[in-house]
Amino acid sequence: MNENSEKMLRVAIQTKGRLNEQSVELLNEAGVSIDENKRKFLTRATDFPLEVLYLRDDDIPQTVAMGVADLGIVGLNEVEEKGYKVDVVQKLGFGNCRISLAVPKDVEYMSPDYFNGKRIATSYPRILERYFAEQGVTAEIHEIAGSVEIAPAAGISDAIFDIVSSGGTLVSNGLKEVEKVFFSEAVLIANPSLSEEKRAMLEVLQFRFEAVIDSRGMKYLLMNLPAEKVEEAIRIVPAMRSPTVLPLAQEGWCSLHSVVREKELWDKVEQLKKIGAEGILVLSLDKIIR
Ligand code: ATP
Ligand code: MG
Repeated sequence: MNENSEKMLRVAIQTKGRLNEQSVELLNEAGVSIDENKRKFLTRATDFPLEVLYLRDDDIPQTVAMGVADLGIVGLNEVEEKGYKVDVVQKLGFGNCRISLAVPKDVEYMSPDYFNGKRIATSYPRILERYFAEQGVTAEIHEIAGSVEIAPAAGISDAIFDIVSSGGTLVSNGLKEVEKVFFSEAVLIANPSLSEEKRAMLEVLQFRFEAVIDSRGMKYLLMNLPAEKVEEAIRIVPAMRSPTVLPLAQEGWCSLHSVVREKELWDKVEQLKKIGAEGILVLSLDKIIR
């Protein structure tokens, strides 16, 4: 492998799998373009001093801890399980999942005591060990690499400790989730002893990531409103500092602009209609620079 250069940040991301696409998208939206069609094991970005190193997600924490890569985008679950010394510098808001204990659906489960003396199959033995130690449970932990969810039916284990996002896989294997132990999302990790030069580049990158992440789930809202209702509207959609209010050519009316969370959009729209807002436009937002 080429030597890690002082002039360039090297970021390790997943080659393929659940985090690959969104990692590339986040970099692109932050103005770091990588041509996925021309990609090699190590690919230089065109408009930022950065190169991307493609790895299996399991190898990312160690690669960053060793300084072979300066940064990595990886699930917090992998960081926690591997236990390498890296700094978790930013949560990235995608790849959300949890690691849970699940048992066959007919088991009458009351508390973690149930797991005393049981065999548990998992790909996350260290996180589970820590949890059982906290709970005072003594169980047999069997580390297996894949298809953990079939272990109980195959007679390999009594229960499993595995990643859950919707729970569908558990149900189709006759299992039920009984303890949610660890919550994860994709995070940006950094080698703890980056040079000052690289730390400055990291700050620029973090700032851009934040703008991209912040704008996700936000909408830009414009509407016509009777001028006397402006105060009420500001209470409903306060925006970042305060909404923009522009006069309309028609006297007694104005145009009000604001931003809202997509989750709250319909609720806010109902409230705004009640106070007389009309011609409401909802636009998507590209970036929010605070
Ligand atoms: P690799 O080949 O890189 O080792 P993998 O098979 O270990 O890939 P993926 O299944 O692609 O890993 O998952 C990568 C990460 O995505 C997980 O470690 C986790 O942080 C996150 N993730 C989010 N939702 C889920 C899910 N439903 N199942 C598995 N992982 C998920
Ligand atoms: Mg993996």
